[in-house]
Amino acid sequence: MHLFGLMRILVTNDDGVYSPGILALAEAAAHFGDVRIVAPDVEQSSMSHAVTATRPLRVRPARVAEFDAFRVNGTPSDCVGVGAHVWGKVDLVFSGINLGLNVGSSMWHSGTLAAAKQAVLLGHRGIAFSAPHEGDEVNYASIRPFVDSVIKEILAMKELCLINVNFPMQPRGVRWTRQSVRHYDNRVFPTKDPLGREHFWISPVALEAADEGTDRRAVEDGFVSITPLRLDLTDHAALERVRSDLAAE
Ligand code: MN
Repeated sequence: MHLFGLMRILVTNDDGVYSPGILALAEAAAHFGDVRIVAPDVEQSSMSHAVTATRPLRVRPARVAEFDAFRVNGTPSDCVGVGAHVWGKVDLVFSGINLGLNVGSSMWHSGTLAAAKQAVLLGHRGIAFSAPHEGDEVNYASIRPFVDSVIKEILAMKELCLINVNFPMQPRGVRWTRQSVRHYDNRVFPTKDPLGREHFWISPVALEAADEGTDRRAVEDGFVSITPLRLDLTDHAALERVRSDLAAE
Protein backbone atom coordinates (compact mmCIF):
# COMPACT_ATOMS: atom_id res chain seq x y z
CA MET A 1 0.00 0.00 0.00
CA HIS A 2 1.38 3.38 -0.94
CA LEU A 3 1.64 6.19 1.55
CA PHE A 4 -0.35 8.59 -0.65
CA GLY A 5 -2.88 6.16 -2.13
CA LEU A 6 -2.63 4.79 -5.62
CA MET A 7 -1.61 7.92 -7.43
CA ARG A 8 -0.81 7.83 -11.10
CA ILE A 9 2.54 9.44 -11.72
CA LEU A 10 3.55 10.28 -15.28
CA VAL A 11 7.33 10.56 -15.54
CA THR A 12 8.90 12.49 -18.40
CA ASN A 13 12.04 14.51 -19.18
CA ASP A 14 13.77 16.45 -21.93
CA ASP A 15 16.89 14.29 -22.22
CA GLY A 16 15.08 11.43 -23.91
CA VAL A 17 13.44 8.24 -22.70
CA TYR A 18 16.75 6.38 -22.35
CA SER A 19 18.43 8.95 -20.09
CA PRO A 20 19.78 7.54 -16.79
CA GLY A 21 18.07 10.48 -15.05
CA ILE A 22 14.55 9.38 -15.96
CA LEU A 23 15.22 5.87 -14.67
CA ALA A 24 16.43 7.28 -11.33
CA LEU A 25 13.31 9.45 -11.08
CA ALA A 26 10.95 6.61 -12.05
CA GLU A 27 12.53 4.40 -9.37
CA ALA A 28 11.91 7.10 -6.75
CA ALA A 29 8.38 7.79 -8.06
CA ALA A 30 7.52 4.08 -7.74
CA HIS A 31 7.65 4.50 -3.94
CA PHE A 32 4.71 6.90 -4.20
CA GLY A 33 2.33 5.50 -6.81
CA ASP A 34 1.83 3.83 -10.18
CA VAL A 35 4.46 5.02 -12.61
CA ARG A 36 4.33 5.37 -16.36
CA ILE A 37 7.20 6.83 -18.37
CA VAL A 38 6.27 8.87 -21.43
CA ALA A 39 9.26 10.77 -22.76
CA PRO A 40 10.80 12.16 -25.96
CA ASP A 41 12.43 9.56 -28.22
CA VAL A 42 15.46 11.85 -28.67
CA GLU A 43 16.95 14.67 -26.62
CA GLN A 44 14.79 17.80 -26.41
CA SER A 45 16.87 19.90 -24.00
CA SER A 46 16.31 23.67 -24.18
CA MET A 47 13.11 23.21 -26.18
CA SER A 48 11.24 25.11 -23.49
CA HIS A 49 7.46 24.83 -23.77
CA ALA A 50 7.34 24.03 -27.49
CA VAL A 51 4.27 22.10 -28.60
CA THR A 52 4.13 20.14 -31.85
CA ALA A 53 1.26 21.47 -33.93
CA THR A 54 2.13 20.71 -37.55
CA ARG A 55 2.75 16.96 -37.64
CA PRO A 56 1.29 13.88 -35.96
CA LEU A 57 2.73 12.36 -32.80
CA ARG A 58 3.26 8.66 -32.18
CA VAL A 59 3.43 6.89 -28.83
CA ARG A 60 5.56 3.77 -29.09
CA PRO A 61 6.71 1.29 -26.42
CA ALA A 62 10.18 1.73 -24.97
CA ARG A 63 12.28 -0.52 -22.76
CA VAL A 64 13.22 1.19 -19.48
CA ALA A 65 13.99 -1.42 -16.82
CA GLU A 66 10.70 -2.97 -15.66
CA PHE A 67 8.69 0.20 -16.18
CA ASP A 68 5.64 0.79 -18.31
CA ALA A 69 7.42 3.11 -20.77
CA PHE A 70 6.73 4.92 -24.03
CA ARG A 71 8.68 7.14 -26.41
CA VAL A 72 7.14 10.03 -28.30
CA ASN A 73 8.50 11.83 -31.37
CA GLY A 74 7.80 15.19 -29.78
CA THR A 75 8.70 17.67 -27.06
CA PRO A 76 8.45 17.27 -23.27
CA SER A 77 5.15 19.22 -23.32
CA ASP A 78 3.84 16.90 -26.04
CA CYS A 79 4.71 13.90 -23.87
CA VAL A 80 2.65 15.28 -20.98
CA GLY A 81 -0.34 16.09 -23.21
CA VAL A 82 -0.34 12.85 -25.19
CA GLY A 83 0.76 10.76 -22.21
CA ALA A 84 -2.05 12.02 -19.97
CA HIS A 85 -4.58 11.47 -22.75
CA VAL A 86 -3.50 7.90 -23.45
CA TRP A 87 -3.28 6.92 -19.76
CA GLY A 88 -6.70 8.44 -19.07
CA LYS A 89 -6.05 9.73 -15.58
CA VAL A 90 -2.93 11.32 -14.17
CA ASP A 91 -2.43 12.78 -10.69
CA LEU A 92 1.13 13.96 -10.86
CA VAL A 93 3.79 14.68 -13.44
CA PHE A 94 7.46 14.32 -12.54
CA SER A 95 10.01 15.62 -15.02
CA GLY A 96 13.73 14.79 -14.96
CA ILE A 97 16.08 14.09 -13.43
CA ASN A 98 17.59 16.50 -15.92
CA LEU A 99 21.26 16.04 -16.83
CA GLY A 100 22.25 19.55 -15.72
CA LEU A 101 20.89 22.15 -13.32
CA ASN A 102 17.81 24.24 -14.12
CA VAL A 103 18.31 27.20 -11.80
CA GLY A 104 17.82 30.90 -12.48
CA SER A 105 17.33 31.98 -16.09
CA SER A 106 17.59 28.45 -17.44
CA MET A 107 14.00 28.03 -16.28
CA TRP A 108 13.05 30.07 -19.35
CA HIS A 109 14.38 27.52 -21.82
CA SER A 110 14.27 24.31 -19.82
CA GLY A 111 12.25 21.53 -21.43
CA THR A 112 12.30 19.69 -18.10
CA LEU A 113 10.47 22.50 -16.33
CA ALA A 114 8.16 23.04 -19.33
CA ALA A 115 6.81 19.51 -18.92
CA ALA A 116 5.91 20.34 -15.31
CA LYS A 117 4.30 23.62 -16.47
CA GLN A 118 2.27 21.75 -19.06
CA ALA A 119 1.09 19.39 -16.32
CA VAL A 120 -0.21 22.32 -14.28
CA LEU A 121 -1.96 23.77 -17.35
CA LEU A 122 -3.76 20.42 -17.69
CA GLY A 123 -4.85 20.45 -14.04
CA HIS A 124 -2.19 18.18 -12.53
CA ARG A 125 0.66 18.92 -10.16
CA GLY A 126 4.05 19.22 -11.87
CA ILE A 127 7.48 18.80 -10.32
CA ALA A 128 10.75 19.27 -12.19
CA PHE A 129 14.01 17.67 -10.97
CA SER A 130 17.53 18.54 -12.10
CA ALA A 131 21.05 17.68 -11.01
CA PRO A 132 24.55 18.68 -12.15
CA HIS A 133 26.05 16.71 -14.98
CA GLU A 134 29.73 16.60 -15.83
CA GLY A 135 31.34 14.10 -18.15
CA ASP A 136 29.64 10.91 -19.29
CA GLU A 137 29.25 9.20 -15.92
CA VAL A 138 26.09 9.72 -13.88
CA ASN A 139 25.90 8.60 -10.28
CA TYR A 140 22.73 9.29 -8.32
CA ALA A 141 23.78 7.40 -5.17
CA SER A 142 24.45 10.59 -3.18
CA ILE A 143 21.20 12.35 -4.12
CA ARG A 144 18.85 9.36 -4.14
CA PRO A 145 17.80 9.61 -0.46
CA PHE A 146 17.08 13.31 -1.01
CA VAL A 147 14.91 12.59 -4.07
CA ASP A 148 12.63 10.46 -1.89
CA SER A 149 12.50 12.87 1.05
CA VAL A 150 11.89 15.91 -1.19
CA ILE A 151 9.04 14.15 -3.02
CA LYS A 152 7.50 13.22 0.33
CA GLU A 153 7.77 16.80 1.61
CA ILE A 154 6.30 18.32 -1.55
CA LEU A 155 3.42 15.86 -1.84
CA ALA A 156 2.29 16.79 1.65
CA MET A 157 2.00 20.46 0.55
CA LYS A 158 -1.06 20.08 -1.60
CA GLU A 159 -1.47 23.81 -2.33
CA LEU A 160 1.79 23.89 -4.28
CA CYS A 161 1.16 23.00 -7.93
CA LEU A 162 4.39 23.80 -9.74
CA ILE A 163 7.78 23.11 -8.19
CA ASN A 164 11.34 23.26 -9.45
CA VAL A 165 13.85 21.09 -7.59
CA ASN A 166 17.63 21.20 -8.12
CA PHE A 167 20.11 18.88 -6.43
CA PRO A 168 23.80 19.55 -5.78
CA MET A 169 26.05 16.52 -6.28
CA GLN A 170 26.56 15.97 -2.52
CA PRO A 171 23.52 17.44 -0.72
CA ARG A 172 23.86 18.43 2.94
CA GLY A 173 20.32 19.71 3.44
CA VAL A 174 17.32 21.35 1.79
CA ARG A 175 16.47 25.03 1.24
CA TRP A 176 13.27 26.61 -0.07
CA THR A 177 14.38 29.27 -2.53
CA ARG A 178 13.41 31.90 -5.08
CA GLN A 179 14.56 32.06 -8.69
CA SER A 180 17.94 33.69 -9.23
CA VAL A 181 17.72 36.46 -11.83
CA ARG A 182 21.04 37.66 -13.22
CA HIS A 183 22.17 39.54 -16.27
CA TYR A 184 24.40 37.93 -18.85
CA ASP A 185 27.30 38.83 -21.05
CA ASN A 186 26.06 37.60 -24.41
CA ARG A 187 29.21 35.72 -25.35
CA VAL A 188 29.10 34.31 -28.85
CA PHE A 189 32.09 32.50 -30.33
CA PRO A 190 32.34 32.68 -34.12
CA THR A 191 34.16 29.79 -35.73
CA LYS A 192 34.27 27.87 -38.99
CA ASP A 193 32.76 24.52 -39.87
CA PRO A 194 34.83 21.92 -41.84
CA LEU A 195 33.55 23.43 -45.10
CA GLY A 196 34.77 26.91 -44.15
CA ARG A 197 31.35 28.36 -43.41
CA GLU A 198 31.05 30.72 -40.43
CA HIS A 199 29.02 29.45 -37.50
CA PHE A 200 28.52 30.36 -33.85
CA TRP A 201 28.51 28.90 -30.35
CA ILE A 202 26.32 30.74 -27.87
CA SER A 203 27.91 30.74 -24.42
CA PRO A 204 26.48 33.49 -22.18
CA VAL A 205 28.28 34.21 -18.91
CA ALA A 206 26.58 35.59 -15.80
CA LEU A 207 27.65 39.10 -14.80
CA GLU A 208 26.55 38.88 -11.17
CA ALA A 209 27.00 36.39 -8.33
CA ALA A 210 23.97 34.47 -7.07
CA ASP A 211 22.00 36.34 -4.38
CA GLU A 212 21.23 34.99 -0.94
CA GLY A 213 17.98 33.03 -0.84
CA THR A 214 18.11 31.97 -4.49
CA ASP A 215 18.09 28.56 -6.12
CA ARG A 216 21.57 29.01 -7.52
CA ARG A 217 23.06 30.04 -4.17
CA ALA A 218 21.48 27.04 -2.43
CA VAL A 219 23.00 24.58 -4.90
CA GLU A 220 26.38 26.38 -4.76
CA ASP A 221 26.24 26.01 -0.95
CA GLY A 222 25.52 22.27 -1.26
CA PHE A 223 21.79 22.36 -0.52
CA VAL A 224 18.88 20.91 -2.46
CA SER A 225 16.91 23.87 -3.82
CA ILE A 226 13.10 23.73 -3.90
CA THR A 227 11.40 26.68 -5.65
CA PRO A 228 7.62 27.05 -5.76
CA LEU A 229 6.65 28.63 -9.10
CA ARG A 230 3.53 30.07 -10.71
CA LEU A 231 2.33 30.33 -14.27
CA ASP A 232 1.13 33.93 -13.95
CA LEU A 233 3.97 36.08 -15.32
CA THR A 234 2.10 39.34 -14.69
CA ASP A 235 4.06 41.96 -12.75
CA HIS A 236 1.19 42.68 -10.37
CA ALA A 237 2.97 45.56 -8.58
CA ALA A 238 3.67 47.29 -11.91
CA LEU A 239 0.09 46.74 -13.04
CA GLU A 240 -1.22 48.33 -9.84
CA ARG A 241 1.14 51.32 -10.22
CA VAL A 242 0.10 51.91 -13.84
CA ARG A 243 -3.58 51.60 -12.99
CA SER A 244 -3.39 54.02 -10.06
CA ASP A 245 -1.31 56.50 -12.13
CA LEU A 246 -3.91 56.37 -14.91
CA ALA A 247 -6.74 56.81 -12.41
CA ALA A 248 -5.01 59.90 -10.93
CA GLU A 249 -4.68 61.64 -14.31
MN1 MN B 1 17.96 18.21 -20.52
